[in-house]
Amino acid sequence: MRLDKFVCKSTELNRKEAVQSIYSGEVFVNGEVVTNEATQVHENNSVLLNGVELKARDFRYIMMNKPAGTVCSNIDEVYPSLFNYLEVDKISELHIAGRLDADTTGLVLITDDGRWSFNITQPTNDCRKVYRVQLSQAISKDCSQELIAQFKKGLPLQGEASLTRPAELEIIAPKEMRLTITEGKFHQVKRMFAAVGNRVVGLHREQIGKVCLDVDAGQWRYLSKNEVESFN
Ligand code: URA
Repeated sequence: MRLDKFVCKSTELNRKEAVQSIYSGEVFVNGEVVTNEATQVHENNSVLLNGVELKARDFRYIMMNKPAGTVCSNIDEVYPSLFNYLEVDKISELHIAGRLDADTTGLVLITDDGRWSFNITQPTNDCRKVYRVQLSQAISKDCSQELIAQFKKGLPLQGEASLTRPAELEIIAPKEMRLTITEGKFHQVKRMFAAVGNRVVGLHREQIGKVCLDVDAGQWRYLSKNEVESFN
């Protein structure tokens, strides 16, 4: 981890204040003063700020049930940010592992551990995201097997060179589906149904990997150790 990030994570200082203290010669790594904020430090390094040993705070891993009409960005845009629902400090250090559209509801995973979120969002890691989908047009019984096969084979999305990765479609009712995908292209689920001539009118994420949503809309909780480690 970069030294300035380490100082931020282990103190109440923001990035600018951390860099300032590094430039001022207040930070020692393994007994030597270090004035380059980009210096890499590791868990077993001794880092002192004004003579006090710093210990990096643990990373944070949070699940939230995103309400409709919120955006997955740290700032309010057309809609309010879902971070308004989080009562934790240093919110600007947090990011979302796989954003949802403003009108999509359900499970979002929030963290300050970039390596962990990469495991979730990198398509080749095959992390399964499960969505409950409401459609505008009913799927008739005659078409259902063919539709399942099309999703399994991969669909051509407008503007994309390759087909979508194999997806699992379960038909719950004529206008209600459960879709499991392992990638997260922009508006992916909506574009997949558009590719077969339908339209998504309701979208809710139920599960990511082994983590199932179990809090109400607008509520959040920290993940358990097992849940966190299930993505490692
Ligand atoms: N696919 C979409 O189209 N929208 C989302 O919010 C998530 C997946």
